[in-house]
Amino acid sequence: MDVKSIREQFPILHQQVNGHPLVYLDSAATSQKPVQVIESLESYYRNHNSNVHRGVHTLGTRATDQYEGARDKVKTFINADSTQEVIFTRGTTTALNMVAYGYARQFLKEGDEIVLTEMEHHSNIIPWQQAAKYTGAILKYIPMEENGIISLDAVRSTITKNTKMVAITHVSNVLGVINPIKEIAEIAHNQGAIIVVDGAQSVPHMKVDMQELNCDFYAFSGHKMCGPTGIGVLYGKKDLLEKMEPVEFGGEMIDFVGLYDSTWKELPWKFEGGTPIIAGAIGLGAAIDFLQGIGLDNIIEHEQQLAHYTQKKLSEIQGLTIYGPEERSGLITFNVQGIHPHDTATVLDSEGIAVRAGHHCAQPLMKWLDVTATARASFYLYNDENDVDRLVEGLQKAKEYFGDVF
Ligand code: PMP
Repeated sequence: MDVKSIREQFPILHQQVNGHPLVYLDSAATSQKPVQVIESLESYYRNHNSNVHRGVHTLGTRATDQYEGARDKVKTFINADSTQEVIFTRGTTTALNMVAYGYARQFLKEGDEIVLTEMEHHSNIIPWQQAAKYTGAILKYIPMEENGIISLDAVRSTITKNTKMVAITHVSNVLGVINPIKEIAEIAHNQGAIIVVDGAQSVPHMKVDMQELNCDFYAFSGHKMCGPTGIGVLYGKKDLLEKMEPVEFGGEMIDFVGLYDSTWKELPWKFEGGTPIIAGAIGLGAAIDFLQGIGLDNIIEHEQQLAHYTQKKLSEIQGLTIYGPEERSGLITFNVQGIHPHDTATVLDSEGIAVRAGHHCAQPLMKWLDVTATARASFYLYNDENDVDRLVEGLQKAKEYFGDVF
């Protein structure tokens, strides 16, 4: 992978921050955008802007073609069976909430089990807590091993005949753990449960194939995969989406409206009430073209190499703890002994290096790790070893600044 030429395509990376060349290591929060995506948004608004699915005029037809063309790109990208299984949403959080409202609240009853893990992002915990309160269902957590991995034995012993839903992340945004979704889906299905997967940290980085994984629902966000903010996807198997209730009612999603009752459009539009996120979807389509041009296999390989390099370099820093297993996605979560992660991130920022500090929307996982917060460096296709070297130098500065307490 030619990282130098990839970096050229990301205008934002070529700036000084606090007097230093920017090193952006916060792509797990949101990725930067290549010119192709920025230009697709500009071109849409400059040349084609119009509402979709209604106008017979030329701009309306163009906007509709581009919007539905983006759905087609998503379908191919994740290898869904049909475009009817691709619902555009505002992001992962909205997609997961749609399943919690439209499916869990409709079909779960008292005593049914919803199985989660303690490594979930808040977006994949709270919708299920609320659905459980509403229906009387019970939440259960698959226990993790010491390094944050979950074993298939633990999965088998947690999922029972009473389990109706399993909600799990594909890749942890804190530990970098990659969960064996295909195997977990099989265990869930053997017990008659459905599986909902949080793909926010997987789809941007690795090839994800709905036919192979055999998930029932799969959610992800455009802004973490070089696309714009405000667009995401809920994939769902057609038969489940047919059964599921819409959660937003109004224009665009209806077939026939009477004074006292109405009927819905067919899939996928019954879930897209109101004027949809037209520019966002088109921008996501451009992001998919860009990522496919580079190749998802190349991207994950590059990021994992960087993570290994980082792990090696950081393990040479005295008093630095890395959380999570050796085998990880392209992110490293750590703490420097005696320095609060917010202080670490502040010193790094003064050196032009952007990392995330805090609980990473995973408070139960922080509790499990027995910390209140951590720092996290997360990589994407535009990062290289020079970025890691700058991080290491920055961390040495943080230690000096705080008087190297060791
Ligand atoms: N799940 C995971 C694992 C995430 O990392 C994130 C984003 N931090 C989300 C869900 C939520 O994504 P969004 O804010 O785009 O809805």
